[in-house]
Amino acid sequence: MSEEKLVKVCPVCGNSELYYEAGGYGGKVYHCKACGYIGAFVVEANEELLENIKRKYEQERQKAGKKAG
Ligand SMILES: [Zn+2]
Repeated sequence: MSEEKLVKVCPVCGNSELYYEAGGYGGKVYHCKACGYIGAFVVEANEELLENIKRKYEQERQKAGKKAG
C-alpha cells in the first residue's frame, strides 16, 4: 500500500501554484495565474487525477486554438 499524496490544484488546468485573493462573500478565493481561474473551489488531487485534469485542459486548449484561428 502506498500513501497517496493529495495536492490542492486548479480545477481547470491542474496548476498547483494557487494564490489567495480577497474575494467577495466567502472571504478568500483562489486565483490560478496559469489559466486565470478565480474561485473558492479547488480540487484535492492525487497524481492520477492531476494528470487527467492537465490532459483534459490541453485538449480543450487545442480545440479552442483551432477555432480561434
Ligand atoms: Zn488554472
